[in-house]
Amino acid sequence: MQEISAPRSRPLSILLIDDCANERTLLGARLKRMGHKVTEAPDGVQALSFLAACQGQNDLILLDVKMPGLDGFETANRIRAREREQTDEWLPIIFLSGKTDPRDIARGIMAGGDDYLTKPVDTTVLKAKISAMQRIAEMRQRLLDIKQQLELQAHTDELTRLPNRWHFLAILDSEIARARRHGTPLSLAYLDLDHFKRINDTRGHDTGDAVLRQVSAALADSVRSEDSIGRLGGEEFCICLPGSNAEQSVEPCERYRSLIENLVIDNASAQGLKVTASFGLTGFNPISDHRASLLARADKALYQAKQAGRNRVVVIPG
Ligand code: GH3
Ligand code: MG
Ligand code: MG
Repeated sequence: MQEISAPRSRPLSILLIDDCANERTLLGARLKRMGHKVTEAPDGVQALSFLAACQGQNDLILLDVKMPGLDGFETANRIRAREREQTDEWLPIIFLSGKTDPRDIARGIMAGGDDYLTKPVDTTVLKAKISAMQRIAEMRQRLLDIKQQLELQAHTDELTRLPNRWHFLAILDSEIARARRHGTPLSLAYLDLDHFKRINDTRGHDTGDAVLRQVSAALADSVRSEDSIGRLGGEEFCICLPGSNAEQSVEPCERYRSLIENLVIDNASAQGLKVTASFGLTGFNPISDHRASLLARADKALYQAKQAGRNRVVVIPG
């Protein structure tokens, strides 16, 4: 019979789990001859700790069904449970067994296995099944990559590349939950560019866009690592400052305000253009606040900053 050629794409890292040292050595040697990298484990417990240590480094598992202690089915169950809880990965599992009872095959699939090889393992079938698993694994990886790209797009404001409103509110929710859980302070700044409509009206919409982009980039570069910024819409932004109460956040907010005031906008129609922003700052009160009340108070402080003459930080403590 004609041999099926070795996997077309890349060699795989295969974890071979079998309690019989002799079987491991023989099958391991065949897999290595096919060009794959093989790690051997004599039981389910050692296999699980190997997988935990080498997260994402393995491509395929060959798993003996009959083993003392954790058998193959239980090992597969635990591998799948760990994947569900801790990782985004899915490792193809092919069971190895002398048994050919259809009920065992069904049980193996139910336990989280993907295919079944009967011992003694035929090389042609082994190669074919590995190729099939490789194809599925690659397809899944492509889907994960696309999912990641779509998530990033859904979270990101197109013009400024900052987290968009929806994503920023999710960040704020998790910071509120963290502040409650640990009893740590949290504050929120709402900022709005001053007389931004005039910039659009006198210098054009493109210059307005350039201002939004450059203000965003400058803020994103200079916010503290623990702070998060998002574009709430139009020329309005929010900064979430965990670990600081309103009073402690005045200094960083003054820094962000002065950064905007001193920004030189790099755009042909922006010569001599001055941009300023007004800030409304407030602290989170764990007893009386929820997200909406926190945002409303920061917005009220922002309104007061506008009323008081703009380009300033106004604080309403939590
Ligand atoms: P104030 O100091 O009171 O905040 O005045 P303002 O002119 O900044 O506020 P107003 O709400 O009157 O105007 C905001 C303007 O922002 C109006 C809108 O056309 C403009 N804007 C909103 N989103 C964008 C955008 O993505 N690009 C540009 N260029 N302009 C935008
Ligand atoms: Mg404005
Ligand atoms: Mg506005």
